[in-house]
This record gives sequence, C-alpha cells and structure tokens, in this order.
Amino acid sequence: MSVRSPSALALQVAAASRALAVAGLFDMHGHLSVREGDIAYVNAHSASRIAIRPDEVASVRIGDGATVGGTPPSELPIHLEIYRARADVGAVVHFHALYATALAVAGKPFVAAFNAGAPFGREVPVFDDPRLVRDDAMGRKVAAVVGTGRAAVLRGHGAVIATAGIVDAVALALELEESARRLWLTYAIGEPRRFSADELASVAAGIGEPRVTRKIWIDALERARLAGALAGLDVESLI
Ligand SMILES: [Zn+2]
Repeated sequence: MSVRSPSALALQVAAASRALAVAGLFDMHGHLSVREGDIAYVNAHSASRIAIRPDEVASVRIGDGATVGGTPPSELPIHLEIYRARADVGAVVHFHALYATALAVAGKPFVAAFNAGAPFGREVPVFDDPRLVRDDAMGRKVAAVVGTGRAAVLRGHGAVIATAGIVDAVALALELEESARRLWLTYAIGEPRRFSADELASVAAGIGEPRVTRKIWIDALERARLAGALAGLDVESLI
C-alpha cells in the first residue's frame, strides 16, 4: 500500500470498486476515488463497477477540475468539493445506499446504536436534497453537510464516505450500510437505544483500529475473489 504510482492507485480504485459491487453497495451506480497530491483517481463514468479495469480509471485535477485521463462520473463534484474542503481526506466513496437512504426517507435518525455505526458519531447527517450532485455549488453543499465527519446520507439518493484512504473507505462504506440495516430492523420493532457518549467513544476507538479496518478490507477483497470478480487484477499488492 506504500506505492502511490498512478497505476497502483488505479488498481486500488478498480479492486475496491469490484469489492463494493460484490458486497451489493455498488450497482450500476456508485464511485470511489483516491487522492494523490492534486490528482483524484476515480471510477470512469461508464465502466461497470464490478468489472472495471485499472486502465478505465479516470484521473482529474482537484484544483481546477480538469480531466487528466478517462471520463469521470457525472457526480464528480462530490469528490472534488470534499477534497477541496478537507486536507485530511484521501479517499471518497459515493454509493446509492439501500438501507441508509431508507432511514433518511422515513425521517428516522441514523443514530449510533450498533458497533458498526460508532465510527460516524452520534448521528449521521442528512443532505436534504435528492437531486444528483452534478455541479460544484451542490458539491460544496454536500461537503458542508459532511463537515468534519466521515459520512453523510443524501435523502432519496445515496451516501457519501470521506476518510483517509482506500482501506478505511471500503470498511466505512460497509459499516454504514450494516449499521443502517440493523437500525431498520430496530425501527420495525421499537426505538433504538443510543450509545452513551462513553460507549460511543470506546466502541469507535475499538472498531477504528487499523487492524480491524484492514480485516474488513481483506475480507471484502476475498469475497470478491471467491465470487470471481477480481480476475485480471494483481491484488496481492493491496493486502
Ligand atoms: Zn449518486
């Protein structure tokens, strides 16, 4: 993971995209990016999320939004505006989350009541506009809702993850949907019992340990490999 050449970064994007597709988070939509300096490497607009090759990964200059290579997705402003607002963010994921958006549409607070939800703080913020994020002005509004946090839900649309790197990004995307799915079950039978401040801090610290996020990353890649979705990718360098 220490090599940061363009080809290594494109491999990260392709492998993570396929893993998130196998996990059911990416369908025909969804994209993720990694940042290296002023360049963001991101899924190409039309490449299948479950079969994208590294040579199909697009690259874009973050500063002025100019395309360096490939054809970036139409919702690229989500990525660019979060990178412009947050020097600490090295990877962004956007996907049309099933359970997280169901909570937002139902007006149910996306609270921290399960361990998988602890990395996102007391409550995941909601961007209250279902339209696609296709210009910088709207991207800035999404980035403002994410704030200094790790995620936001876009009502009736999807979710956004903002974090340090690709390993955390995949782990957090999976944890966001897991937490939302468990909350959905909970809301069906009652009200979630939120973590106390102490519980939240303790659980978040434990689940955020690098060895835990790395375990989730390895598992996601292995599931993709067993599904036959990593053919043609040298993923050994990513583990
Ligand atoms: Zn979208």
